[in-house]
Amino acid sequence: MSADLGELGDLYQEVILEHSKAPRNFRKPASANHHAEGFNPLCGDRCSVYLDVEDGAIKDIGFEGSGCAISRASASMMTQALKGKSTEEAAKLFEEFHNLVTGDAEAMKNAAELGKLAAFGGVSKFPARVKCATLAWHTLQSALEDKEETVSTE
Ligand code: ZN
Repeated sequence: MSADLGELGDLYQEVILEHSKAPRNFRKPASANHHAEGFNPLCGDRCSVYLDVEDGAIKDIGFEGSGCAISRASASMMTQALKGKSTEEAAKLFEEFHNLVTGDAEAMKNAAELGKLAAFGGVSKFPARVKCATLAWHTLQSALEDKEETVSTE
């Protein structure tokens, strides 16, 4: 992997590597009242997202699953970013994050507003990895909508 790091330097930002090694909120909260499963067949990433939503706010959030460094780090950082946010704020953040990783010029310019999530800007140069970065977010959306089918990025 070290041989690829030069070329993929922009993709594997330090904060992404750090979260992939030690994912935050990697657990199923006992109070969870929403849940969904996601699968990215392109890479083999799997992700379960658990939410405790009360009065329109995400009181607690956790995830489980297995996958590549990008998918794990993205899920980990997503849970940190969304804890305490309203479901409307979560939907808006997903839109902004999605715009960033798909290379939207406006979103790239305003990346700093996304805080740590801005580290995923490099993903836009690697189209195949966009699905890794957005898997947890698609799964989150499905959990909020209480869909029972596994979300697939394909
Ligand atoms: Zn992946």
